[in-house]
Amino acid sequence: MNVSDLNVLGQVSPQVAERAQNPRNYGPLEDWDGHARLTGDCGDTMEFWLKVTNQQVVHVGFTTTGCGSSRAAGSMATELVINKSPDEAGFLEPADILKALGGLPRDSEHCAAMASSTLRAAIGDYFARTRAQGRNRSESGDCGTCSSAECPSKQRQHNESEEQFRERQALARKMCQIGYKLLVMSGKGGVGKSTVAANLAASLALAGKSVGLLDVDIHGPSIPKLMGLERERLVAHGQEIVPIEIGNLKVMSIGLLLPSATDAVIWRGPMKYTAIRQFLKDVNWGALDYLVIDAPPGTGDEPLSVAQLVGQPAGAVLVTTPQDLAVADVRRSVSFCEKVGLPVVGIIENMSGLACPHCGGRIELFKTGGGKSLAREMGVPFLGSVPIDPEIVQCGDRGTPYAHQFAESPAAKALAVIVDRIVAASPRKGSCPEPLPPLAERSWF
Ligand code: ADP
Repeated sequence: MNVSDLNVLGQVSPQVAERAQNPRNYGPLEDWDGHARLTGDCGDTMEFWLKVTNQQVVHVGFTTTGCGSSRAAGSMATELVINKSPDEAGFLEPADILKALGGLPRDSEHCAAMASSTLRAAIGDYFARTRAQGRNRSESGDCGTCSSAECPSKQRQHNESEEQFRERQALARKMCQIGYKLLVMSGKGGVGKSTVAANLAASLALAGKSVGLLDVDIHGPSIPKLMGLERERLVAHGQEIVPIEIGNLKVMSIGLLLPSATDAVIWRGPMKYTAIRQFLKDVNWGALDYLVIDAPPGTGDEPLSVAQLVGQPAGAVLVTTPQDLAVADVRRSVSFCEKVGLPVVGIIENMSGLACPHCGGRIELFKTGGGKSLAREMGVPFLGSVPIDPEIVQCGDRGTPYAHQFAESPAAKALAVIVDRIVAASPRKGSCPEPLPPLAERSWF
């Protein structure tokens, strides 16, 4: 039974029935700026192509090997993003598609998720290509951000208001003063991502670098606690927020703006995007060598917003634990980075074995080596393994950076090697990353 038969039985909305039979914008575009092809768990393959002119999605085409619901979802996704900016289009959610369609049969709702994911991947591809073009400009002497009169941030886009233009320029100016932006990501929570981010930032600062630490884990900010700043509150100076300064380390977290550590933030994608843009643009970061950004686990709105906003040079540090389950999640993070054009700096395997406090022997609590073999398999650098050390928990609870306090411990030494590797791999300020590999055909789910 296909969707039109269901309609006869009154089980699908007219919007679904119409698009299942005559999907709009069906077929590839000849001239496109972004493209993605994804295969879902259901076995269907969807493709999207989009054309962007003057920061506006002007044409979208799609194809699917799936059924009528898949055609209806794809068709509605194209209609919903035409005339939007790529940033806005990147926030299209399955719920938006389902709402516009008046729902889908329950066993076909995944078609909306598939359409949203494929479209977002095509937008990620568009941003990646735009950045690669910026790199080509840099090779011809134009850094693509601040040094040339032809720089895109100096030219008002066709559909941009004066205010939007000024905002974009302000962000570009701020990001231009920051050297390497490091987005610390993990596939799942509890693997030590925030601990790594805090210790990485503290170690870089102790090595004499000027460093910013930005916590964009909007629903669970842990940087204030890890850095012992829970009682601190941010102040404004003129139009800017003054970050908390610990020597040459500047810290900013949504947690520092909340009245209490138990307050919950309930925000949807566009609000998170706006907040993260403010954290980048309205905080007085000054000139920094590094900005370490602690993202929430997964590949949701926060890392996507950061990837779209920070500019170059930027890279992702992926934290995992050695078990197969955690390692599988990192695959998704690597795939996310490819799609949004964020180079992977490397993978860190945390909680990699435990030194027995009695005999000093090594206990493989969660196995070991999963991160290293994943890095090899995915062709990304492996930065190092950090063993379990109960002192890391104590330091986190006390709010003191472990790497400094227990500098002679095996875990701190491992962290020091990781920091050295990151410093060695850091691009010059204002330089651009390698071009992206061609778009891979892989599952997004
Ligand atoms: P995430 O940011 O991934 O959710 P956290 O950084 O908050 O994870 O760490 C989760 C818990 O694990 C914290 O209590 C932290 O102190 C602890 N932890 C992190 N890394 C280690 C380690 N190598 N050894 C022991 N405990 C660790």
